Amino acid sequence: MVNPKNSPQPLKSTKELKTILRRYFSELEEASSTGSRKIAWCTSIGPCELLHAMGFEVYYPENHGALLGATRTATDYISFAAAAGYSPDICSYLTSDIGAFLKGTTPLTQAYGMKSVPKADILFYNNNQCREVQDWFKFYARKWQVPIIGINSPRVLDEVKESHLNSVINQITDLIPTLEQISGIKFDMDKLSEAVRISKECTIRWRKVLEYAAYSPTPMTFFDHCIHMAPAVILRGKQEALDYYDHLLDELSHAVDNGVADVPEEGHRIYWDGMPIWGKLRMLSDLMIDLQIAIVASTYCNSWIFDALDPKNPIESMALASLECFNVRSEDYKETYIKEWLAFCRVGAIIFHDAKTCPYNTNSRFAMPMRLKDNLGIPTLVIHGDLNDLRCFSEEQARTNIEAFVEQLEEVPSSTV
Ligand code: SF4
Repeated sequence: MVNPKNSPQPLKSTKELKTILRRYFSELEEASSTGSRKIAWCTSIGPCELLHAMGFEVYYPENHGALLGATRTATDYISFAAAAGYSPDICSYLTSDIGAFLKGTTPLTQAYGMKSVPKADILFYNNNQCREVQDWFKFYARKWQVPIIGINSPRVLDEVKESHLNSVINQITDLIPTLEQISGIKFDMDKLSEAVRISKECTIRWRKVLEYAAYSPTPMTFFDHCIHMAPAVILRGKQEALDYYDHLLDELSHAVDNGVADVPEEGHRIYWDGMPIWGKLRMLSDLMIDLQIAIVASTYCNSWIFDALDPKNPIESMALASLECFNVRSEDYKETYIKEWLAFCRVGAIIFHDAKTCPYNTNSRFAMPMRLKDNLGIPTLVIHGDLNDLRCFSEEQARTNIEAFVEQLEEVPSSTV
């Protein structure tokens, strides 16, 4: 059990985070209840900048899925989606979100006083991350009889070729007339350029936050990243996100200068690949502190770094950012990407989370752990669980496996790549 005296202090920025999230959701609620502004639902890696430039309030159902997971209510709702024909084997963000909707409830009520999820005027998906999002949004399109539009992305790319880029550029351009029609606002390239500029600034700051993982001891671990990534996901077209990350970066700089460790007496440094197990973040964080393990970096939280964004070429750069997304890439590319982060963060081991209902963010099913182990001599562990469906996760089994893995690491203490 974690000793309270060893518990790291929460980052002071958490208070500001709560404030800006509350403001975001109250603006959504206001737009939804008064109709003062149109609401677009967007996938989390979709080009939200286009929606901001067209005056939409942007809502991200995956964030709602994560909230259902973090509040451990998700598992209660999956059966409602199953009764409507959605298999419990598909994405548990999807099934818990649709299930909660069918039951007429949402954790947004308790957290932010919202009556319900905001009704969409348009649903905008990008299936670069997975096919599920399209079917998820289609459910609401049928329910509310509202338009659904999106980008059908090339996938499994070793490299991004001109043909891939042109395909996405053309698709984005083709969506503009529908967005103009729904928003009643004429498309303006300068506004798009400004939205891309803000997103780019957000990306630069979020990358810097994650790069603090290079310090030893690290002032922030994966479990904090999962919380503090919220502005990079849902506010990245907005100035508040930039101000927030400036303050967080100041706090992290101060922490490093003063040797503040997120994991007291930091021992082994580990990389997390795969989705968070939202309902077990605290349990896993406490376990890692007990074991003096710092999970310093992850593929998942890096997914909201969009280096390609460029306000001088807004549409082209949004298309490139979409295609550079980790989920879109081939196994070889993913392996190289992970190797680079392992080296940058001086990590000595990897834990792969095999999430039952998200094959797209699970990278352990086609022998990648074995290849990385063979090529780099780095110990790897696969734990089985899920992002939201806690029936797929055994706390006892995970604890036993992680403890045994750490014992194994004690025998190879210098195995950093
Ligand atoms: S990437 Fe995975 S978790 Fe995210 S929406 Fe798709 S299936 Fe669900």
